[in-house]
Amino acid sequence: MSGRISKEFIDELLVRVDIVDLIDSHVPLKKTGANYVARCPFHVEKSPSFSVNRNKQFFHCFGCGASGNAISFLMDFSHLDFVEAVEDLAAFAGISVRREQAAYVADASKKEDLNSLYQVLEQVAAFYVEQLRVTPKAIEYLKSRQVKGAIARDFLLGYAPDKWSCLSERFDQKLLIEAGLLVVKDDGQVYDRFRSRVVFPIRDKRSRIVGFGGRVLDDSLPKYLNSPETPVFHKGKEVYGLYELLAKNSKPQRILIVEGYMDVIALAQYGIHYAVAALGTATSQAHLDLLFRFSSELVFCFDGDRAGREAAWRVMESAFSSLKEGRSCRIMILPPQHDPDSLVREEGVDGFVNRMRSAQALSDYFFDYVASGLNLSEVEGRSQLISKAKPYLERLPEGTYREMMFSRLQDLSGMASLNSADNKLAPPQVSSYQSRQQEFNRLSSARVAIALLLQHPALAENVEQKDIDWTGLEFRGIELFKSVLGVILDKQSVNTAVLIEHYRDTPEEKLVTALALLDAYTPEDKIEKVFSDALDSLLKQARIASITRLEAKARCHGLDAQEQAALVNMLAIK
Ligand SMILES: [Zn+2]
Repeated sequence: MSGRISKEFIDELLVRVDIVDLIDSHVPLKKTGANYVARCPFHVEKSPSFSVNRNKQFFHCFGCGASGNAISFLMDFSHLDFVEAVEDLAAFAGISVRREQAAYVADASKKEDLNSLYQVLEQVAAFYVEQLRVTPKAIEYLKSRQVKGAIARDFLLGYAPDKWSCLSERFDQKLLIEAGLLVVKDDGQVYDRFRSRVVFPIRDKRSRIVGFGGRVLDDSLPKYLNSPETPVFHKGKEVYGLYELLAKNSKPQRILIVEGYMDVIALAQYGIHYAVAALGTATSQAHLDLLFRFSSELVFCFDGDRAGREAAWRVMESAFSSLKEGRSCRIMILPPQHDPDSLVREEGVDGFVNRMRSAQALSDYFFDYVASGLNLSEVEGRSQLISKAKPYLERLPEGTYREMMFSRLQDLSGMASLNSADNKLAPPQVSSYQSRQQEFNRLSSARVAIALLLQHPALAENVEQKDIDWTGLEFRGIELFKSVLGVILDKQSVNTAVLIEHYRDTPEEKLVTALALLDAYTPEDKIEKVFSDALDSLLKQARIASITRLEAKARCHGLDAQEQAALVNMLAIK
């Protein structure tokens, strides 16, 4: 099946399917008032703050902020990409996916190319597995590392023979080069990249082989070698062992991040099936975001030497932008002379797990690190602490976690308040109906108008009836309002989920999602009135702004005929 899924099909799907049924089939929901609630599947919590709204066809978690429509739910819950999620949702609704014809041939052929890359990687992996079976010295090596047959099978371990052209003799050369399996010399000659090494196929979360890692059997160098970046392999985005981990447990309580392939395998031997390794690169924020999709607790394991401590700091630097409430990072520093393999051997699984559990929370590690060498009993030391720590804390996303880190810095530094403007506490979540309604009323009329339009697309009719002249109206908020209105009028059938979908991956996505979530606290029979008032006031503001702008322009440069007409028009309405 080729061709892109048509936009109309996605709209239709989002109107036909009921998000309450969909989510209920994955996470049992309970009805309370207008909403359905459950304990959030995306973060660990004791009381339910995950809520699903049938009218908006939208879910939202007040705890971790997760939100979206039915497609977003499947992407997050089942770890699918967009197309996979649409396919699953269509299957759930019992309808078949409609795709666009012809026009997207280029897309399809690109996909075809990738498919042949995946195919050759798969065949090469099978070839390496076969080679391992007939190479006693490689089997000996794995035995010496106490790797059992079952684990070797789970991880598809193989062996790349000690020859220069094993692969090029057997497989398509062009594909091998593209898959990073051949090295091309300056004179155009090619040779196998992996030779005389145990190879570790790297699979993405959909079980496709995307690259390989290889380790020598002796002490020759380099000890480890990885596939280069290719169209299907991006080191900054993949981790080794994730597929194998998810095959054992799709919702692990925690994920342990270790340094090498052999660490992952050694731990799996001991029943610790939740370890992964970054692929010879520093752990990136993309890695963290990927791993946090599967577990809310990440434990990073580092050697106790200087290099290990430096690596720990680098991870912390990239972790800061991913940290928020409901997510936890720990730093586990190994005792000197140990790697995870030797440590689990010496202390047993229980000892190892205990170390992991009592590993230092990233927040503790952070403050220890920035405070080291500073004398906090002196003003100078405390002010240095603030200037060292603050730039990091400012990178934390808004939320309780950030508040707590700032208040910890306040405690440590003895400062009464650190720039309270950007770390002020979020408004309390539970407030009386009346004060919440007042809060909503205080919002700008642009926000109210757009929020209500997103939540009740039928209001578009009221706008039509007003017969508004939009010419010359330029104002923050008006642009987005017009855009949402345009989308509604353009579509056959529409609900909030369809509108959200329209703005996926656009600069407006965040704002639109936030406005769709905004609680109007307005009785059903007052909605039209509140909307109409907000729109009138928005239009009035926009007209005043445009009049001011045009009058200023008239004074400096003069106006063209069109602008003059617009100005006269607006002055007449005002
Ligand atoms: Zn949540």
